[in-house]
Amino acid sequence: MSVLVVNSGSSSIKYQVLEPDSGAVLRSGLIERIGIDTSWDQAFEILLKDLDGLIPDAIGHRVVHGGETFRSAALIDEPVLNAIKACSPLAPLHNPKNLAGIEAARKAFPDTPQVAVFDTAFHATLPAASHAYAIPTSIAREYQVRRYGFHGTSHHYVALKAAEYLGRPLNELRLISLHLGNGASACAIEYGHSLDTSMGMTPLEGLVMGTRSGDIDAGAVLHLLKNSNMGADEVDQMLNKQSGLLGLSELSSDLRELEEAAGQGHAGARQAIAAFVHRARKYLGAYMAVLGGVDAIILTGGIGENSAPMRQRILQRLNFAGLLLDETANQDARPSHEVPVARLHMPNSRVKALAIKTNEELMIAKQTLATLTESQPLPAARKTIPIAVSGRHLHLTRESFAILFGDSAELQAYKPLSQPGQFASHQKVNLIGPRNRIDGVRVLGPFRSKNQVEISRTDEFFLGIDAPIRDSGRTEGSAPIILEGPA
Ligand code: ADP
Repeated sequence: MSVLVVNSGSSSIKYQVLEPDSGAVLRSGLIERIGIDTSWDQAFEILLKDLDGLIPDAIGHRVVHGGETFRSAALIDEPVLNAIKACSPLAPLHNPKNLAGIEAARKAFPDTPQVAVFDTAFHATLPAASHAYAIPTSIAREYQVRRYGFHGTSHHYVALKAAEYLGRPLNELRLISLHLGNGASACAIEYGHSLDTSMGMTPLEGLVMGTRSGDIDAGAVLHLLKNSNMGADEVDQMLNKQSGLLGLSELSSDLRELEEAAGQGHAGARQAIAAFVHRARKYLGAYMAVLGGVDAIILTGGIGENSAPMRQRILQRLNFAGLLLDETANQDARPSHEVPVARLHMPNSRVKALAIKTNEELMIAKQTLATLTESQPLPAARKTIPIAVSGRHLHLTRESFAILFGDSAELQAYKPLSQPGQFASHQKVNLIGPRNRIDGVRVLGPFRSKNQVEISRTDEFFLGIDAPIRDSGRTEGSAPIILEGPA
């Protein structure tokens, strides 16, 4: 099985043919000056010739923006093409080029199944609290102004690699991934799902990048528009192409040059590096809070994979958070395609730190294969999973029940529940929170080893407490509530 991975940029196509299982690269290449010397169709003729008789089993296309439509990779057909087109206003520089590549590829390989893999899809799980900008909801909806996040393929890939290296299931890990290349973004990954990420509606938000500013007060942008001689296009150009490391140093967007210059006393280079590091550390701290702790921090991208001094600057003095950096391991870390994960933490460090060589092409190939497999008709026998939604209720220990209802009271079954052996009882208690009370909440039986009150989201605001989502029985650190019974 071989997959041709196509990345159609502004005037070039980067491609690789690889085996998704082994990761072996069979062909790779770059076709440039498209739209100048060659058309997209001609570019694929060149590509076909480069492949020298090798016909891939499938083609995976990198597509930058999948909007709110695409939560995963998609097998390309007419409706999918139209949906990608509909996302173009969100990424006017990228999506039209991605589409041109797809259309030319469909002509060149009419019989080969093709899949679109989106930079945004991994972040489809962002909860509203992290994807919403605090602007009027009606305006946000009308103009699709929200945070989408990018670099999803890379964050997802390194998260999987980290889990593999740590020998733990991804769905038990809280990870923070820092993709630091020319573009840079951070991602808080909770049990395999993107919970927050630093790039927003566009790839401009968040970390300091090679030529992008990252976070900037929208007020500063308005100030420039009103008071400078720059128009919208010029400010756009300034923020995306002349800012970041390049803007701060007024020397280069390339970290290698800046490290060199900083070592010779270039003040701008030092300032650019310091700002880059400061911003990355700020997001690390924020994401530790957002995740309520972290099991491993991942550094990837050209800078994260290659610059030991940058890794050291970003990961130093995090002992308070449980990370003990191993300076020697960091100096020696050289993640490669052959050995993609390198340890940066001391063996006794509670929080792990890893430098991981990202491989977006391999991830696109794997997702292409997975999408083709999933799109096969499902086998006839399908497992049914019953789901029930319960009203507010509580479970009590025998001791708490005696305190609420008196020593001689018995828990009396009133109605059996769908779970075998469980029942609603005749007894009810009152819940008293700091703001309000809710009377007559039913006790479920039988007794449990822990008291546990289960209420709705609305109830929590009404009562005035913060009730987190928890696995049943895991009540540590939950908000306390007063229970009132007849005794
Ligand atoms: P892109 O986002 O374009 O894929 P990369 O992931 O290739 O970018 O990252 C490019 C950045 O990585 C540049 O700033 C480059 O200077 C830096 N980089 C690459 N190799 C090294 C190295 N050995 N030491 C320091 N920085 C490096």
